[in-house]
Formats: sequence, C-alpha cells, structure tokens
Amino acid sequence: YNSTAAAAEEPITPPVTVPHTQLLINGKFVDAASGRTFQTLDPRTGEVIANVAEGDAEDVNRAVAAARKAFDEGPWPRLPAFERQKILLKCADLVDKHNDEIAALETWDNGKPYEQAAKVEVPMFARLFRYYAGWADKIHGLTVPADGPYHVQTLHEPIGVAGQIIPWNFPLLMFAWKVGPALATGNTIVLKTAEQTPLSALYVARLFHEAGLPEGVLNIISGFGPTAGAALASHMDVDKLAFTGSTETGKIVLELGAKSNLKPVTLELGGKSPFIVCEDADVDQAVELAHFALFFNQGQCCCAGSRTFVHEKVYDEFVEKAKARASRRSVGDPFKAGIEQGPQVDSEQFEKILKYIRSGVECGATLETGGERYGSKGYYVQPTVFSNVKDDMLIAKDEIFGPVQSILKFKDLNEVIKRSNATRYGLAAGVFTQNIDTANTLIRALRVGTVWVNTFDIFDAAIPFGGYKMSGHGREKGIYSLSNYLQVKAVVTPLKNPAW
Ligand code: NAD
Repeated sequence: YNSTAAAAEEPITPPVTVPHTQLLINGKFVDAASGRTFQTLDPRTGEVIANVAEGDAEDVNRAVAAARKAFDEGPWPRLPAFERQKILLKCADLVDKHNDEIAALETWDNGKPYEQAAKVEVPMFARLFRYYAGWADKIHGLTVPADGPYHVQTLHEPIGVAGQIIPWNFPLLMFAWKVGPALATGNTIVLKTAEQTPLSALYVARLFHEAGLPEGVLNIISGFGPTAGAALASHMDVDKLAFTGSTETGKIVLELGAKSNLKPVTLELGGKSPFIVCEDADVDQAVELAHFALFFNQGQCCCAGSRTFVHEKVYDEFVEKAKARASRRSVGDPFKAGIEQGPQVDSEQFEKILKYIRSGVECGATLETGGERYGSKGYYVQPTVFSNVKDDMLIAKDEIFGPVQSILKFKDLNEVIKRSNATRYGLAAGVFTQNIDTANTLIRALRVGTVWVNTFDIFDAAIPFGGYKMSGHGREKGIYSLSNYLQVKAVVTPLKNPAW
C-alpha cells in the first residue's frame, strides 16, 4: 500500500450541505430539551461535520407522547389503507428525486463509497418503501371455522407506538427495514438513529412529511444508547421495540423491554458467518465472491462472511488469489469514483479492528496482506487477509466488523458443518459449490437465518432476514416482517340460525 500517496490526498468536498441537525418531534424540527448537542464526525478526517441535537429521556418522552397521540387520535391508523399506500409511494418518489443529496449525506457521515450509496442503497431504500406500500392494502384477517354456532373472524390491527433503534453501518437501509413495515401496517414510530450517523434519517423523514405523512407518525431522535436508546426501550407507552446492533446491547434492550411493560422485541444482532468454499469450486470465482462477502461496506456488515472455510484441495491456490485480490482493493476517499473501500465509521471501530489484527498476528495466524492503518488521517484500514486461522483464535470467534478476512482450512463436509455451527451466532452463511447434493446438505445443516448459494448479500425487499441463536429474534423484510407490527384480534359472534 502506498500510504504516503493516500496521506497527501485532500478530501473531496461533499456535494451537499447538512440541512437538518435538530430532533424531529410531532412533525417539527426542535432542539433537545436540554439544549445539548453532540458532534458527528467525518470518518475521512475525524473533523466535525455538524453539531446535532442530543436527545435524551425527556425528548423520548415528548416523541412518544406525539406518537401516542397520532396513534390514538390521529388519522394514520384510521386512513383507508390505499391512502397510506399513496403516501408511502410518494415518499419513495421524493427519495428518488433527492437520490444524490441523500447518498452524499450517507457517505459523508458513514464513510461508505458514494457510488454504493447513490446507485445501490438509496434506490434500494425507495424500493423497500414501494414494496411496503404494496402491502398496505393487502393486510386482512381470516374467517375461522370454529366448533359451535359462532361466526369467528380475526382482525389484524397495528400494535401502536413502535420504538426503533438502528445502527450506523446502513443508516438508511436499517431505517427502511424498520419504518417500512411499521408504517404500512398503520403504526406510529419513534426511531433513534445511531450516534455516529444521525444525518440521512433526518433528511428522509422531512421528505416523508412533504409526502403527506401526518405529524407525530414518524419521530426521529438523535442521541446516545444508554440515554435516549434506553429511555425508548424502557418506555411504558411504547408498544413494540425493534433493535439492530450488537448482541450485547440486544440483551440490554430485551431486558429493558421486559422490565418495563413487557413489550415485544425483535432483535437483529451480530454474526460470524461462514463462507464455505467446496473442493469443486472455480477458485477465481470463489475468491471474488468470498472477497465481496467479507469486504463489502468496509467489512461492517452483520452478515459478513467472516470465516472463510476453504477445502484443503483448493486452499493454497485460494489463499494466494485472495491475498492478490485484497491487495488490489481500491481504498480511498469514498467520494472518489471507482473507490471500493472508504474509512471505517469512527475511531472506536478503527481501533478495535487494529486490535483484532494484532491479536491475529500474536495468535500465530499468517498475515498475508494488510495489517495496518491506511494513510495517516481518518479511519482507513488496509484490506487484511489472514490464512492458517484456527477456530479458537479470537479473529475466528468475534465479530471484527472490519476489512479482515480469516481463512480456515477444512477436509470434509461433516467437519465444516460442525465447525460452521460451533458459534453463538447464526445469522447467515455462504456456500460455494456446483454440486447440488453438497449444496442441499449444507443448506439444511447450517443453523442460520439465510443461506446464500453461489451468491452473497442479496437483500431484496421480499426476502426475510434475521438470525438463529444469538443473532436475534424475528425476521425483517418480506411478508414475515408485517407480523412484527400487527396484533391479531379474534372476534366471536353467535349465529342465531346455525342451520344456515
Ligand atoms: P450498539 O449495539 O452499541 O449500537 C446500536 C444501536 O444501539 C445504536 O443506536 C446505539 O446508540 C444503541 N444503543 C447502545 N447502547 C444502548 C442501550 N444501552 N440501550 C438502548 N440502545 C442502545 O453497537 P455499536 O457500539 O455501534 O457497535 C459495536 C459492535 O456491534 C460492532 O463492532 C459490531 O460488531 C456490532 N454491530 C452490529 C450491527 C448489526 O447490523 N447487527 C450493526 C452495528 C454494530
């Protein structure tokens, strides 16, 4: 890596200014009740982008009260479903219209390549809202054949006020996965963004109000986890909680939900997903896909293929080529065209990744390439590849959440199944083989919420996503996500003339 060249580079000026830094409560941008703000930083330099209102328990109270009123008295849950649908479609249209500004904010705050934000993530965001708009007028109950002279039906009703807490790795997509199904089913929302990336949610939420979303239906709180996040999770007037983030914090919010009003909680947590390259693999293709599975989004994906298991027959060739591929990865200012990897989101993640890299070296894994920071400013990490990784090394067990590929060797299918499943996580897996029997065996044996066969990271709006084991509870996206935001009411009425 030519670190000096990177260090000399001046960051490109983002093609956007920051339009909103206040909290969004009851349809209006307002300061935090405390008047406090916090800094959101540019991960390319560590410099301040903006001072953002810092919401805490009092602001959460205000937002929940607004959402409560909008649910109990407002038009949103009572609108004809097709009216909600029209508004959601308009939201998507406005997001399309402002695609480039939204993408620029996302890149500036998070560090992800602008091309990825502008060409994939913002369009996907709009697609998710169109998908959920499609559901809005297709939610209905059943008539139930009961014993006895009764007419029995079920009503599918919104739960009420949804509290949603999202992470920083995909600020917009996590917003869409949570807000989409909650709005389509007629709920109202208080969403807390991650403290590292508060900006894009404020922008799109303003557009949603322009599209006709009534006040109080979608409230956005910027702020920190132990204050604003915990206040939301333990609020007595929040009827449902959805969380994405680390397994450790997932345990905390589940407990807060239980100790307050026993609100149902869906959790999308961490992972240590296996990517299994079988003996029949075309090595060039397997290397490319395994590289994508790990390095995409600076390695900051809960489902990253972070244990690359390679069959011994193709192992040496795979390691050589994986090293070459990682060495070619283009790292730099995420606003620059053709850049594959920008900086990590913040100094905490950056330091944590470098610590894991040192632990890999100390434990005796072979450092094939990378291993250090990239350049001299900002939070860039060199694409790093370890071979000879053993199952008990920290780099094979913990979620690193960075551009660090760990390659492990295996001999046979039963062995790799056992080793793949020997983790507290169960989010996803990648399988690379042309043999249908091998694929079918792995598909059924792996205890994970998603298996990608000869592909990876396909996030269509209709495909459910979620974890087994300590990777979470419940599913987001697709038809399955609707039930997270619906109650089922059974209605029983006697039949006066059962003969008919
Ligand atoms: P985190 O779980 O602490 O943060 C996620 C969200 O939870 C943020 O909005 C945060 O403010 C909030 N939060 C934190 N503490 C809280 C509390 N006590 N009560 C309520 N809400 C709280 O994650 P992090 O610290 O940003 O990252 C740590 C690690 O988590 C990462 O290195 C990575 O391994 C993992 N992570 C996973 C995902 C994922 O998509 N599953 C996303 C981000 C991070």
